[in-house]
Amino acid sequence: VLKGTGNGALPPMLEQYVRMRDEVAAQLPHAILLFQVGDFYETFGEDAERAARLLRIALTHKSSKDFSTPMAGIPLRALDSNVERLLSAGVCVAVADQVEEPGSGLVERKVTQLLTPGTVTEERHLSADENYLAAVATGDGYALALLDVSTGEFRCAAFHTRSALYDELSRWRAREVLLAPELSGNPALMADFQTRFPVMLSPANFEEDGCCDELKTVLGEVPGSLSSAALRRACGAVLGYARVTQQGELSMVRRAVRFEPGAHMRLPEAAVRALELFTAQAPGGVTLMDVLSQTRTAGGRRRLRAWLRAPLLDELSIRARLDSVETLTRAADLRGGVRSLLYRAHDLERLSARVAVRRATPREVASLARTLELLPEAVRLLDGLDGLLGGVRARLAGLPEVVTRIRAALVDDPPIRAGDGGLIRDGFHAELDGLRNEAVGHRAWLAELELSERARTGIGNLKVGFNNVFGYYLEVTGPHLSKVPADYRQIATLKDRARFTRPDLREREREIARLEQAAERLELEVFTELRDSLAAHAEALSEAAGALAELDVLSALAEIAVDCGWTRPQTADGSARLTQARHPVVEAATGGKFVPNDAVLGAGRTTLLLTGPNMAGKSTYLRTVALCALLHQIGSFVPADGAELPVYDAIHTRIGASDDLAGGRSTFMVEMSELAAILHGVTARSLVILDEVGRGTSTLDGLAIAQAALEHLHGTGAHTLFATHYFELTRLEGEHPGLINLHVAAEEDESAHDGRGGLTFYHQVIPGAARQSYGVEVARLAGLPAPVTARAARLLTALNTGSDDGRLTRELAALDLGRLTPLQALELLHGWQRDVVGAERA
Ligand code: ADP
Repeated sequence: VLKGTGNGALPPMLEQYVRMRDEVAAQLPHAILLFQVGDFYETFGEDAERAARLLRIALTHKSSKDFSTPMAGIPLRALDSNVERLLSAGVCVAVADQVEEPGSGLVERKVTQLLTPGTVTEERHLSADENYLAAVATGDGYALALLDVSTGEFRCAAFHTRSALYDELSRWRAREVLLAPELSGNPALMADFQTRFPVMLSPANFEEDGCCDELKTVLGEVPGSLSSAALRRACGAVLGYARVTQQGELSMVRRAVRFEPGAHMRLPEAAVRALELFTAQAPGGVTLMDVLSQTRTAGGRRRLRAWLRAPLLDELSIRARLDSVETLTRAADLRGGVRSLLYRAHDLERLSARVAVRRATPREVASLARTLELLPEAVRLLDGLDGLLGGVRARLAGLPEVVTRIRAALVDDPPIRAGDGGLIRDGFHAELDGLRNEAVGHRAWLAELELSERARTGIGNLKVGFNNVFGYYLEVTGPHLSKVPADYRQIATLKDRARFTRPDLREREREIARLEQAAERLELEVFTELRDSLAAHAEALSEAAGALAELDVLSALAEIAVDCGWTRPQTADGSARLTQARHPVVEAATGGKFVPNDAVLGAGRTTLLLTGPNMAGKSTYLRTVALCALLHQIGSFVPADGAELPVYDAIHTRIGASDDLAGGRSTFMVEMSELAAILHGVTARSLVILDEVGRGTSTLDGLAIAQAALEHLHGTGAHTLFATHYFELTRLEGEHPGLINLHVAAEEDESAHDGRGGLTFYHQVIPGAARQSYGVEVARLAGLPAPVTARAARLLTALNTGSDDGRLTRELAALDLGRLTPLQALELLHGWQRDVVGAERA
């Protein structure tokens, strides 16, 4: 552990450090141990080098006569921010605190916290978004377990293929992924996982018997739904690991929910990225999530993200959500009431998880009460509603006695820490009241002391004061010192005054301290009792939390629908018909200037081939259709005047040329492997969005690949939108029934060839193929120098008319070979070669 120099024995403190470091390493092999030494947390040896690098703190050395090791430390008060930094760098942290007052010998220390990116529960280390720990095991296919320790959510699923597993795993963005040894032991597989996910090397136990024991410990049984060894191993491993980091306490986890991956639309990571659901491609850009973020609670926001990642396939469930959203769009009062109520709610999901593990602070319990107090009003607002809203109402009712209990016991604004007293309301606990009253009596005596002593001694400015060193004292200023009575004992002398005490004062003071301590202890007891009694309601609390989150999402979707003039989509069978559809993000950015478009896909129209100049709006059109389809399947209204949409089983996209240089693959290779994944996965019920396929290679290759891919997709019957700059493809319209040409209207202004302007975009999608490529026009728009664009325009004409080939043929035909000298022949060849190469270079 310590790569020190010298070979003397370690100092005792470092011996202790090495021992703890080894203990920690057995549980979390790559964790950094922060070791309290007085006012600092120190790291030593290799840990110190890592910490210094990751935290940008100074690296020093701990040296003695014959020993020296690297050392780096942070002040105690900077713990949280540094832990934060380590966790977000994917590093686990163990904290060892001094657990006794330093004396002469070695101070006793204990590991008090084990923190890993996927298992932190302290609010201060968490973003409001979800925080999953994942485990993957294999057997008959793959099994995945996902656990959010901060809310107790625990789910698992089985997959036949690795790519299905990848899709699901990237859907949930686990912060930490544990792999079973059969995966982590295979270098190729391990590398593949590591390029995609934050894999954590850990000795998590994936051994089946141990995993079943773990399941029994946490859930009381091995649930029947965990029907394969792989599922039991993944679930057991994730729980075992989490339990170590939670130091044994996992009671927020109550059940394992097995979900069917097939129950949701397939939404590969590439589509999530291309459609900019959560991250924009341009730095600082706006995402769909940003537009939809009208939720008012952290739980609602997490739920919305989950809905977006996992659109539904079941028509009835989609309709149920749409019905509720519609209800909320129509009833403005209901919506307003619900939303103003949600505004006042705290993060009930996390609070109930904290309550379940008996870790809630007094302040968290008060927040819980404040949130629960809102529920009766919510129940009243939802009175008489059916469907999902009726279900929400039912789950929100039935916790009032919890509120009453908390309110009766706890003061309105309790302190954060439970140990310092001041938590429990007067009148709640007779013994506590007794202690407090007694203390009040002594304090009153102290308060009167000042006046009575002034009268007795005749010192008008005599004062009773308190500080931490001396406790209570009597203070007299210089001029009056001669009047100090004999029963005063001097305890401190300041420049112009002195402080005194008296036996009876000491006595009262001891009594007050005793009473306060007793009260504090009792308060802690009462509070712990309250907290434990709340744990019994954990199930109902988490039900209510879920209901509140759902209500938040539904009302947020309704709010957006009303604000932005969205419309309720009708679920149709096999065909899509959007009227005046808009791209929600681009529309928001173009401020009222957005040009809506129609889109029709269905029998006899399964493939739309879209041409038009760059910047005309092809991509935007493609994404508009995809986003409407996605919104429909999360149960949202869509940005259009009218919408009929089928239930798609997947949205596949291949958009733009993204580089994966870090991954060592060329742009073209990335493009082709994404295309391969699409062509393998697509079905007749999928929606496919392809933008500029084949761009990453030479023109002919690219064209050939684009055409072949297009024909293949067309053959599957999937709804395909294909934007391309290959005009050659537009002739496919006649050859393949159901393949339709569209283009984006743009107009070239002949008079404006002076290097500025020249092309007007209408962003309007209309039938038929575009006339030409407009590439040179766009180059002009982009500010290429006029001579360059002029030369390009001439070359284009030459290329289009094929005049080079013509000239070559004519000259060749005209040659009189009998009269040509070898030298002349060579010169001619050289000239032709120069022309041809020149043209190609251009
Ligand atoms: P293309 O894919 O044809 O190169 P994009 O779809 O990327 O073009 O659109 C280019 C820009 O044009 C967008 O960033 C947007 O600002 C604007 N735009 C696209 N479509 C529309 C539209 N329907 N209405 C208004 N502006 C649009």
